[in-house]
Amino acid sequence: MDSAKFIDIVSASRLEPLQDGVLLLIDLDDFEMINETYGYKKGDFVLQLLVARLAYRFPKHRIGKADGSAFLMFADIDSADKEELAADILGTITEPIYIKSDKVMLTASIGIAEVASVMTTEQSLIAAKVALSDTKKSRRGTFLVSSADAVRSRKRTVQLKRAFYESDLEKQFYLVYQPQIDIKTGLITGAEALLRWQHPVFGLIPPSEFIPIAEGTRFIERIGRHVLYEACLQCKAWCDETGKRLTIAVNISPWQVIQPDFFEEVVQTLADTELDASLLEIELTEHVAFEEEERIVERLKSLQALGVNIALDDFGMGYSSLQTLSRLPVQQLKIPRELIASSHNSKTKRAVIETIVLLGKRLGKTIVAEGIENEEEAALVRSLGCDRFQGYLFHKPLRAESWRELLTS
Ligand code: C2E
Ligand code: MG
Ligand code: MG
Repeated sequence: MDSAKFIDIVSASRLEPLQDGVLLLIDLDDFEMINETYGYKKGDFVLQLLVARLAYRFPKHRIGKADGSAFLMFADIDSADKEELAADILGTITEPIYIKSDKVMLTASIGIAEVASVMTTEQSLIAAKVALSDTKKSRRGTFLVSSADAVRSRKRTVQLKRAFYESDLEKQFYLVYQPQIDIKTGLITGAEALLRWQHPVFGLIPPSEFIPIAEGTRFIERIGRHVLYEACLQCKAWCDETGKRLTIAVNISPWQVIQPDFFEEVVQTLADTELDASLLEIELTEHVAFEEEERIVERLKSLQALGVNIALDDFGMGYSSLQTLSRLPVQQLKIPRELIASSHNSKTKRAVIETIVLLGKRLGKTIVAEGIENEEEAALVRSLGCDRFQGYLFHKPLRAESWRELLTS
């Protein structure tokens, strides 16, 4: 619902102006089912009945019907009482309704905004709306109180999405490369390509912030193609310059893998950059999109048949790692920084890393330990039998220019 419409509703239901108090945006869960089962007329009847029921039950508060299956309530109450009120509203909505002698039980989700005199009505509504959509995403049938952080982060998401489309990929995005080191020989085996976004107004934005947002748009495909091409091209140049077989690890979003032309894109990129397929490592992170597992497995197998290596990134951080491991065709496991950090001081972390290494070795995988920051962590993963290191102790991710020195020294 757009905010202009929202404000019309507030005015129409005499909710304007809002004084200090609490604004609740209440939306019925799965209301389409009522319309689909009993028709729109009965659906409208249910909505009217619920407004009447809420008005009867909460006579002191102002109540209005909003868009679709939503209601607005403004309560002139102490902020401390808002949770109790929300729970009462949910209870009221859950009481059965009879349609054509069918007993129907509905549930609702609520977004709550604390209205302060410094806020405009629009700001209060946005806050309630953000809280409502977060409730719907995390736990339907419950309520959530808006926070300034949630509103700010929503605003930032919208800004970054717009910035993607206005950005010049070649000028604002660049890759840095973090060396990977063979634990036995201490030599550089290759690099992981990591993306950076230098925005003229927002400054340097980390991938942990912009990649998840890009994954919610088709921009991830554009950016993914760009990264794959640039990284392969760079790797080929290093191999030619040094005469060594250096590998290049590229992070690929599952959203890219499920694109119909993903396999062809990799084949074409390898051909265009003349990079040997066996030097490319595709890093995948466990993700909701693994629900499309069959398609992903099939694509990965085709890539492996070409000689491309597949790595499972941040292994152990998702919730179905072992299941994923048994199904996806991967050759490499990457142990995340979160497990490595201070592992020399934690029996539990040590045991977890040891188990991952044992399991990986039993399955014939290469094990890469990520985010090594000190000698103690390095010594531990060495003693446990990891194959490769990556971390600030050795090198931070570097611009391609800085690699010249590294490779010639
Ligand atoms: P990742 O693939 O697990 O990358 C490892 C991250 O750990 C990188 O952060 C790297 O800079 C950081 N790191 C390496 N060594 C150390 C260390 O010793 N200490 C600490 N504290 N950190 C270390 P970065 O570059 O910010 O990337 C974050 C994540 O963003 C990556 O995690 C990856 O999931 C995603 N990402 C980065 N580039 C791309 C890309 O081109 N495409 C996609 N789809 N995702 C990307
Ligand atoms: Mg990675
Ligand atoms: Mg990782």
